[in-house]
Formats: sequence, structure tokens, C-alpha cells
Amino acid sequence: MKERFDNPDEPMQIFTRNAVGDFVEQDIYTCAHCKIVYKGKKAAYDCCRQYKCTLCGSNVEPHWAMCRGCMDSKRLAEATEIAAEEYTGPVYDDAQSLYYESLEDYLDAVDKEAREEFVFACTATRLADTSPARLASDIVENLLEHHHEDAAVVDYDGLVQDLKIWLAQQTAESWDVNYKKKIRVRDE
Ligand SMILES: [Zn+2]
Ligand SMILES: [Zn+2]
Repeated sequence: MKERFDNPDEPMQIFTRNAVGDFVEQDIYTCAHCKIVYKGKKAAYDCCRQYKCTLCGSNVEPHWAMCRGCMDSKRLAEATEIAAEEYTGPVYDDAQSLYYESLEDYLDAVDKEAREEFVFACTATRLADTSPARLASDIVENLLEHHHEDAAVVDYDGLVQDLKIWLAQQTAESWDVNYKKKIRVRDE
């Protein structure tokens, strides 16, 4: 990894000579440390600069404005709190990177002392909620893909009805964390 500097030296500007021999300023600079050439002074200055978290000042990877910890805290602080008794649905524990089927499950599984202040709400997507009409249209489109232009299916509505019954039996469900909503699981 290359060395980085908290306060890099001033980049050096490149000049060229025109036809009559005068120096002409160019918007081209070289990094004072590694001599790589950049368009624009800022890019050259940033080349070997140590990037810092704008909130806590700790070192971060190039081009990052905040460290992981500060980003997580900011996201949590900006999330809207929902009352535990008003929430039904799965929850996500950021500290463990784990999903729980319900808030009750989380509270049962994680001891009070081991809890963070909040867990995040989740959105559940159920396979059973798939639109039969949309699925039918996907199937038919797929079936007819390699047929002639006027090819069509018969009893399209029958397919939709059958899919409706079939989809209703599906139990698969996926959860996505919703970082905009949090639920308190430990007193301050
Ligand atoms: Zn450099
Ligand atoms: Zn930070």
C-alpha cells in the first residue's frame, strides 16, 4: 500500500511552451509525492492524501467521506423509531447481521445485556403474493418466444386461475432490512 499524507505537499503545475516560445499554463498537475500527472489541482492533491472521516477524523479508504462506524451510527440516528407494540414482521439485528422472524423471536434469543439499543424493521416478500396474471404473462411470453408471430395460447384465463391456486400454497418468504425504521429493544 502506498504511503499517504495528512497534509500533502502542493502539487506542481505543468507549463508548456507555445509556438513563439512563451510559457503557457495548463490545468495539469503532478502529485508532489509520487509524481503521477492529473487534470486539475485537486485530483493531484488528493492522489497521496490520507482521506479522513468527516465526523470522527479517523483514517478511511480513498474517496470515502465517512468511516464504517460513523456511517452505521448516522443511519441508525436518522431511522424513524416505531413502537415495539405497533410492529409485526421480521427484524434485523445489525450487530450480528442476523434476521429474526419476529421481534418476540429476537427478544427470546438475545439476552438483554447483549442487545444493542435498536433492531431494524424488515420488509417481507412472500412468494404467495406474486401476481398470477403477471406470472401467467411471463410463462406465455416464454412459451411463445420461439414460435411464429401469430402463435397464441388457448385458455389464458384458465392458466391464471390455476396459478392463483398454486401460488396460494407457496410458503417461501424473503426479508429485506429496512434501514429507515428502527425498534427499541433496550432501554437507554
Ligand atoms: Zn501521489
Ligand atoms: Zn468516523
